[in-house]
Amino acid sequence: MADYDYDLFVIGAGSGGTRAARVSASYGAKVAVAEEYRVGGTCVIRGCVPKKLLVYGSHFSEELEDGRNFGWTWDNARFDWPTLRDHVLKDVDRLNKAYTETLKNHDVEIILERAELTGPHDIKLASGKTVTARYILIAVGAWPAKAEFPGSELMSTSNDMFHLEKLPEAIIISGGGYIANEFAGIFNGLGCDVTVVNRSDVILRGYDESVRDRLIQISLAKGIKYNFNCTFDKIEKRDDGALDVYMDGDDKPLQADVVLAATGRRPKIEGLGLDQAGVETDDKGAIKVDEYSQTNVESIYAVGDVTDRVQLTPVAIREGQAFAETVFNDNPRTVDYDCIPSAVFSQPPIASVGLTEGEAREKYGNIKVYSSDFRAMRNVFADRAERSLYKMIVEHPSEKILGLHMIGPDAPEILQAAAVAVKAGLTKQAFDDTVALHPSMAEELVLLK
Ligand code: NDP
Repeated sequence: MADYDYDLFVIGAGSGGTRAARVSASYGAKVAVAEEYRVGGTCVIRGCVPKKLLVYGSHFSEELEDGRNFGWTWDNARFDWPTLRDHVLKDVDRLNKAYTETLKNHDVEIILERAELTGPHDIKLASGKTVTARYILIAVGAWPAKAEFPGSELMSTSNDMFHLEKLPEAIIISGGGYIANEFAGIFNGLGCDVTVVNRSDVILRGYDESVRDRLIQISLAKGIKYNFNCTFDKIEKRDDGALDVYMDGDDKPLQADVVLAATGRRPKIEGLGLDQAGVETDDKGAIKVDEYSQTNVESIYAVGDVTDRVQLTPVAIREGQAFAETVFNDNPRTVDYDCIPSAVFSQPPIASVGLTEGEAREKYGNIKVYSSDFRAMRNVFADRAERSLYKMIVEHPSEKILGLHMIGPDAPEILQAAAVAVKAGLTKQAFDDTVALHPSMAEELVLLK
């Protein structure tokens, strides 16, 4: 190891890279991490965390409305975008410092520069300096993909949403996935006119159909508009800065202040020097790795979104941890990708683990579906029509749970606990045997019919 400058050189200080760096250092490795922007990565700087704070911020409009039957009135309630935006950015600064401190406390050297591979053990930094490492870990994440058409450069991405100078009056969101539905809920809650435009008539592909339908139904009632099976022709900017958006051959444009591209995220491999190091990628640009996150080049590993296995923070963290265990603790570890719970922070949120009804039917044939379609007590009291839906898919006749799908207030908080039971391979009977915790929304899980 003495022949190299470092035992481990990590490119990218996001969730996966940071975990791998500090755990490897704790096992005695000499570690450096290069980051071209800010320590923390997508989740902390421009993703999960600031997005969730915007979700909280936008939900107050409903809370204020719902307060009336509870005896509260707020006259002259107003919303101020710069206050929310700046507090969110302040929190991002706090977390950025906390991540930086953690790395420093583990004696990880932080190099705030872009790094490029020049060989299996060689890295060139933006400053021109070259360094060598016994192992290199690529953890550079993914970046928003934008469709190309005339004026597409006028589209913003989720990265920009945290820095908007002013709240848009009207926003058009391209895409029907996680980011589209989460920002549709945020901007609708903040009082903007929201139109979601998708190329198909499916939102949140991969989630259970009835849960997806429920989100569309509730979102339409809240005033979010959907244009399905629709493609963009061009976007033009007016003198006053407003955007004219032409779609589907229609010569009458839709107007918006912001057009958000939320059409997936691609591995961020441009300029990384993969060719120079001989690292292989697949046809989508994702770095090919084995179950230990090792690439075709023995000394180079990759974790997180750049490998496009499951684009979720907790998965990248597990991959980073498993890498450190395998390479620096003589404890080969792989990540179990089965039964990963996930959530969409739409309003209301969706949470899910395991197979959807469609997937389970295809795989097992003989299945049973239990469900509860209910109005949360709080919504009944507040005269809010919004209904929740919980669905459990079981194998028949064993009644082993194959999937659990929920839409309703706090669904992600509730599902995280229930996911333990699904992962453990429990049956519906185990839920039935558990006494309800009353009154709660979660009790519907042990009362499914
Ligand atoms: P998604 O993959 O969730 O959705 C992409 C959407 O864009 C789909 O509706 C898809 O349509 C559409 N689309 C894809 N390609 C094109 C194209 N070339 N032209 C037009 N439309 C297109 O991507 P997001 O950008 O919303 O999110 C990226 C990833 O980030 C997610 O996959 C997720 O892993 C992660 N993420 C996770 C969150 C969470 O855990 N809560 C929150 C935000 C992001 P169709 O389905 O019809 O093909």
